[in-house]
Amino acid sequence: MTHISELIQSLSPSATLAMSQKSNELKAQGVDVINLSVGEPDFNTPDHIKEAAKRAIDDNFTFYTPVPGYMSLRKAVSRKLKVENGVDFAPEQIVVSNGAKQALCNVILATINPGDEVLIPTPAWVSYVEMVKLARGTNVLVPTTLEDNFKITPQRLEAAITDHTRMVLLCSPSNPTGSVYSRDELQALVNVIAKHPDIIVLSDEIYEHINFTGSFTSLASFPEIADRVVVINGVSKAYAMTGWRIGYCAAPLWLAKAVNKLQSQYTSGCSSIAQKAAEAAYDGDQQCVATMCEAFRRRRDLVVELARQIPGLECNEPQGAFYLFPRVTSFLGKSDGERTINTSGELALYLLDKAHVATVDGAAFCLDGYIRLSYATSDDNIREAMRRIGEALARLK
Ligand code: PMP
Ligand code: GLU
Repeated sequence: MTHISELIQSLSPSATLAMSQKSNELKAQGVDVINLSVGEPDFNTPDHIKEAAKRAIDDNFTFYTPVPGYMSLRKAVSRKLKVENGVDFAPEQIVVSNGAKQALCNVILATINPGDEVLIPTPAWVSYVEMVKLARGTNVLVPTTLEDNFKITPQRLEAAITDHTRMVLLCSPSNPTGSVYSRDELQALVNVIAKHPDIIVLSDEIYEHINFTGSFTSLASFPEIADRVVVINGVSKAYAMTGWRIGYCAAPLWLAKAVNKLQSQYTSGCSSIAQKAAEAAYDGDQQCVATMCEAFRRRRDLVVELARQIPGLECNEPQGAFYLFPRVTSFLGKSDGERTINTSGELALYLLDKAHVATVDGAAFCLDGYIRLSYATSDDNIREAMRRIGEALARLK
């Protein structure tokens, strides 16, 4: 007998994680797959962070942790937000969660009622719309394309706002496009949001430090809306700590309290050891962050150069994160003699089967006709993957 709730039946599984699993299964069968699907830094966690985790075990940080996280970690996050972003969040306004993923879901569940509208510029990370579904909210997608550099304009934002809009969810630098909003572009969006005092702004800043523009502006730094901006961030991307599962929300106090209540019933405080490691990440030497960002910038240059040599693949130059989001519509309707490719999803599967390169269908990010490549891998892997992709695409006539 099986009995799955309607809510869970309505959810899609995470396409990024599914494609990565598929690629790992093929690898286990001995197939030489290059995995450009899941987005995670390929670097090891820096040594001083690992040492802090080992010390935490020896020092018996092994008991239940406070639901919103150790005060020492929340103080470190509060200092980080002040020093790096110029924004004021007291430790009481910060809730540490099981990755930025749980932090996002907590905030959505704590604020969205059935029927509330959440505005999401697309393409957008796979999990946002599913989290809104979990809260029984209504996704209102605001589409962008390559020609817009995948950024929404204030006019489009304004046009999408209704009396039911409860939240605007922004992500810069963006997964899956790598687009980064400048301070002026954000200011223009803030000017619109400032006219609608009931809207909460959920700002996913997880790729803050993987940014090639040289400047980052937190949405919480605009005084017009600062009292209703929720910042999401964490250690996964900046410090190569995806497996440690530490993220946080920095929110107005009333919302931090609600998130705390939800988390107290759902997962409790996060791993004691991972929290001590995250504290070391925030309080320690930041050189590792700059070094990794520089490596990603070099790889961005490489992947863009190689992608532009592939006829029919159209891409812009991403300014942050570690993704390329090329348009592949010129290949749709074509065949390699064995199978005809009609959608970007079929193209991603074709690349996996024939080129042994794992990518993710743009449709999972709410934009058909594109695929996402994560270039958080070695230069050699990037070169070989792009060679294989080029060859496989050339066979489509
Ligand atoms: N936001 C975005 C845009 C992401 O790409 C991810 C994926 N890592 C997350 C949030 C979740 O990050 P974490 O690993 O900290 O849960
Ligand atoms: N955020 C990464 C990605 O988009 C990790 C996988 C996930 O959680 O979606 O690939």
